[in-house]
Amino acid sequence: MMYRHLFSKPSKQAPGEGDSINAKLLLQAGFIHQELSGVYSWLPLGLRVLRKVENIIREELNNLGAQEVLLTALQPQENWEKTGRWNTVDVLFKLPSQTGKEYALGPTAEEIVTPLVGSFLQSYKDLPLAVYQIQTKFRDELRAKSGVLRGREFLMKDMYSFHETSADFDEYYAQVIDVYLKIFNRIGVEVKVTEASGGAFSNKISHEFQIITPAGEDQLIACAKCRFAQNTEVATLAVGEACPKCGGELIATKGVEAGNIFDLNTRFTDAFKIAVTTASGERVAPHMGCYGLGVSRLVGAIVEARHDERGMIWPDSVAPLTVHLVSLGSGEAWEPVLEKSKDIYRTLMASGIEPLWDDRSDVSAGEKLAAADLIGIPYRVVISPKSLAAGGVELKRRDSIESRIVSCDEILGLITTKSVGPSL
Ligand code: ATP
Ligand code: MG
Repeated sequence: MMYRHLFSKPSKQAPGEGDSINAKLLLQAGFIHQELSGVYSWLPLGLRVLRKVENIIREELNNLGAQEVLLTALQPQENWEKTGRWNTVDVLFKLPSQTGKEYALGPTAEEIVTPLVGSFLQSYKDLPLAVYQIQTKFRDELRAKSGVLRGREFLMKDMYSFHETSADFDEYYAQVIDVYLKIFNRIGVEVKVTEASGGAFSNKISHEFQIITPAGEDQLIACAKCRFAQNTEVATLAVGEACPKCGGELIATKGVEAGNIFDLNTRFTDAFKIAVTTASGERVAPHMGCYGLGVSRLVGAIVEARHDERGMIWPDSVAPLTVHLVSLGSGEAWEPVLEKSKDIYRTLMASGIEPLWDDRSDVSAGEKLAAADLIGIPYRVVISPKSLAAGGVELKRRDSIESRIVSCDEILGLITTKSVGPSL
């Protein structure tokens, strides 16, 4: 991708409207654009990150055997009446139609997925099954804030599982915890797994996946050593006590809830009168689980957890592009720099490594390097008269302060084998 082709270029000034680090950096770098409070459009660089996060989630859920669907965001009022939630969910957007009917703009999808899956279920042989979607959700949040962490329109992955027995549900639920940990690990963020109350439908606990950052709204008591944590809303342990899992010290900290998984029991299958026939001929309501993951919130949480005073620091797995090529020079020295840059750009492209090439000749070196730091692509390659005289190009990782001169032939190997670590 050519930097000069980007229509949404980073700006030199921090935006006035950013109320948090993720909002400030994502807006300034041209990753997102605010349309109204809590409502953002995703621009080319931001969308690349969002899609990469989505695809990691998709791959892991497909591996688990879940089936992807795309449900409607426009949902019938009758379904919400059936579950008793039409008048109890305060964040529900209600849309009047010119026909006189009203619709809900989906904040979640139990009211759609339960009757839908139910219409295909006959016997216990159809179970267990899980479906998921990655879809825009709408919530009339009174406190839309903190950039993409709390939006009124946002991207969520929501999965729903259906089981003949609670024992089968329990087993699946435990598997999903492992899959979520794999997803967060691949994305490059550390999470604490909190035990929270199960909500209205179950006396069991639910689990939240919390990314530790001061920007978090949730107060946690977390183990300093392992993943264990409790949300202070329900905490049974106190700061200073020993972690029940590993004996480490429990400390007070803040987190952003990136995911939340629940036992729905038969709350929704009962409401829609869904039942399957068991092997012994009985009719039973399937036991459901629901598994949320905030895809757009996760992008914001990554920025909160990984940035410095100069900009964002993307993990390799979800970075918008892999290498930021910066060509510097002027006058007679410009032509050889451009030629060498073109070679490297082509080599990277041919190897499937995505470069962003800043070949602008009317912009200062300082401005180009500041833009590279702000955008936060993992590898920066500077091609300049100075680097060429020293025998190559300057290679630096965004998460390192050191750079080194490498020959042009070496770059590809160093990047593909990830042998340029944070400490050179
Ligand atoms: P919160 O407690 O932060 O309001 P929630 O518990 O209401 O979130 P869930 O219903 O569990 O959210 O939704 C699943 C996931 O969707 C959450 O874990 C979160 O990552 C994401 N999410 C929820 N609300 C928002 C929002 N307003 N903006 C962005 N992401 C959200
Ligand atoms: Mg939640």
